[in-house]
Amino acid sequence: MRICVIGLGQMGGNMALTLQAAGFDITGSDLFESARQRLAERGLPVVAPDELPPSDVYLLSLPTSAQVLEVIETSPGLLGLAPKGSVIVDTSTSDPVVSRELAAKVQAVGLAWLDAPVSGGPKGAATGKLGMLLGGEAATIERLAPMLEAMSARYTHVGGPGSGHVVKLANNYLCAAHLLTTAEAVAMAARAGVDPAACLAGLNSGSGRSAVSEVNFPEWILSGRFDSGFTTGLMRKDLRLARDAAERLDMPPGLLQAVVEAWHADPEHPADGDDFNRIAGALLAAATPAEETAP
Ligand code: NAD
Repeated sequence: MRICVIGLGQMGGNMALTLQAAGFDITGSDLFESARQRLAERGLPVVAPDELPPSDVYLLSLPTSAQVLEVIETSPGLLGLAPKGSVIVDTSTSDPVVSRELAAKVQAVGLAWLDAPVSGGPKGAATGKLGMLLGGEAATIERLAPMLEAMSARYTHVGGPGSGHVVKLANNYLCAAHLLTTAEAVAMAARAGVDPAACLAGLNSGSGRSAVSEVNFPEWILSGRFDSGFTTGLMRKDLRLARDAAERLDMPPGLLQAVVEAWHADPEHPADGDDFNRIAGALLAAATPAEETAP
């Protein structure tokens, strides 16, 4: 299977190396020479965007739907250059409405479409242990099973085109909310004199636990490392997409709007380029235990 990975950032670069190590014929491409160079130094064959080779799969890992649209429609324009029968797989966290429109255009010219947003971060991409949410035809997934198995610990087919992307937004909304609520809960316990690590151990033995309390807090927040590889800017983008999707779907008012506002309250703290776990770190720091408030 010849796979062309477009977008060699934190996720795409690692996915490309994982697939290459699993024996697939991989070519990588990125708009930026520096990204191509970084991967070439690690042994990946790379080409400029106007030199994409004919492939069976075009695997996209791009910041937003804007770049996905550009790559598919205009520059370099996969609609015109991809061989008939090849598959476009969008692993980016994209706008589900755009994905549905793109899937129709892709299918109209004899290509197949799969939305396949991922979770697990750069580490999951580097170890072939991503979680993937798939939106597309079952037959396409069957065809791509060897590739999907090499990239992921688990993939879940959630529906037709766009479904993977809408479920991904729902997931990231929950993750963003859990960062706020867990930080508030740990801060409350800290103010009452409880050590944050002990609080977390307690929460993780109870029904308030989540991936945020089990993974993010010990690995990136309490450790002070803040090096998950996922930025605040990308989480803010996902939350805006989730809010827009909820509005278009005429959802009754809920907590989503408050979570979006909390994540956009101060554009500098954390800044878009900061690790997304910083938002919980800042909430915890602001609530540093005060002796006089301890019971
Ligand atoms: P990134 O910014 O590290 O990588 C994106 C890459 O795309 C960059 O190298 C950039 O140069 C390249 N690019 C931009 N426009 C391009 C174009 N027109 N043609 C070719 N290349 C282009 O981002 P990332 O962290 O790897 O995230 C990629 C996608 O995966 C995003 O949609 C993000 O929301 C999603 N995601 C990220 C993580 C994470 O932990 N980083 C986890 C899950 C999902």
